[in-house]
Amino acid sequence: MYDYLIVGSGLFGSIFAYEARKKGYSCLVVEKRDHIGGNIYTKEIEGIQVHEYGAHIFHTSNKDVWEYIQQFAEFNRYTNSPIAYYKGEIYNMPFNMNTFNKMWGVVTPGQAQKKIAEQIEEFGVDEPKNLEEQAINLVGKDIYEKLVKGYTEKQWGRRATELPPEIIKRLPVRLTYDNNYFNDCYQGIPIGGYTQIIEKMLEGIEVRLNTDYLEEKEELDGICGKIVYTGPIDAYYNYKYGELEYRSVRFETEVLDEENHQGNAVVNYTEYEVPYTRIIEHKHFEFGAQPKTVVSKEFSAPWKRGDEPYYPVNNERNNLLYEKYAAEAAQEEKVIFGGRLGKYKYYDMHHIVAEALTCAGEYL
Ligand SMILES: Cc1cc2nc3c(=O)[nH]c(=O)nc-3n(C[C@H](O)[C@H](O)[C@H](O)COP(=O)(O)OP(=O)(O)OC[C@H]3O[C@@H](n4cnc5c(N)ncnc54)[C@H](O)[C@@H]3O)c2cc1C
Repeated sequence: MYDYLIVGSGLFGSIFAYEARKKGYSCLVVEKRDHIGGNIYTKEIEGIQVHEYGAHIFHTSNKDVWEYIQQFAEFNRYTNSPIAYYKGEIYNMPFNMNTFNKMWGVVTPGQAQKKIAEQIEEFGVDEPKNLEEQAINLVGKDIYEKLVKGYTEKQWGRRATELPPEIIKRLPVRLTYDNNYFNDCYQGIPIGGYTQIIEKMLEGIEVRLNTDYLEEKEELDGICGKIVYTGPIDAYYNYKYGELEYRSVRFETEVLDEENHQGNAVVNYTEYEVPYTRIIEHKHFEFGAQPKTVVSKEFSAPWKRGDEPYYPVNNERNNLLYEKYAAEAAQEEKVIFGGRLGKYKYYDMHHIVAEALTCAGEYL
């Protein structure tokens, strides 16, 4: 018998397991993939830590979260400064004075504000009916057409004029020459990758890989006191109210026989005609100087059952459906639902650390 069965060895499940073990509880972790770590898993290829499930940059303004995660790895000073490629031109992200200078030749914040305001006024739509109108109303035509339109259409698999305006509530415009994507106090990449963090959390805890809890539910339920379930909540209930929707991503990763392919870790491709949304060059997360390089192209993809669920689609239909599952989950005496799939919410890693610690504090 185990005190806790933890379903999923991602960041949420692993933190819970670590905290439970520290308090003297016995734990069994089951993981359906052939490795631990969930989506933060990194794998070494050609001496480079490759983020197998998409680029992961740790960022937070929560000092407790930052101190907690650093017990498990040393973090470098990586600052996320993606660039955007549009028809042979390069623009800095997020939209800031460097972007506006390149786009219009303006130099001062006042000149940039004036340019944006002129374009919004020229467009003259009071009540945007779709995402295109909403975006132009926020940042004007030029930024929208070069940096927002194609990228968003690839991400959602639909034309901007067919998407609801609510998807974009804000498009932050920064009136300083600052390419740092995040506003958080702390950010970085664990030197040597993320997998070591999970390995340390799960040290001394029994882990069964290639084990799908839902396929062995009866047997596994019989050998534990409580269950922490971090898989998809609708799958737990056998989709009885219907399927929650996700967007998925397909990664094409290759080793290139060159030292430096694109000069930056993250390059967004903002024109519709280029089929991928981003290229990640993994070595730049750790300032690598290896002779070869590894790049991953990311293709946004629709999701169907059996695919990896990446991004919850939190629209009205799905949120209402989730509420039905959540109401049932709240009645469970033996099962605790957690993590981004258990809660059907897009959580960054720092949210997960905070949520998992709160959950551990509540139950342990
Ligand atoms: C493409 C992408 C990029 C991201 N970039 C960032 C970033 O830059 N910064 C940031 O802070 N966050 C980022 N995130 C978010 C980050 O990945 C999550 O916050 C974090 O990984 C969530 O951890 P989790 O444990 O909740 O879920 P997961 O990592 O998904 O772990 C759940 C685990 O449960 C397992 N599982 C599911 N069902 C079963 C079952 N029936 N039986 C056994 N095992 C099961 C899964 O295989 C998985 O390993 C990104 C996410 C994506 C998708």
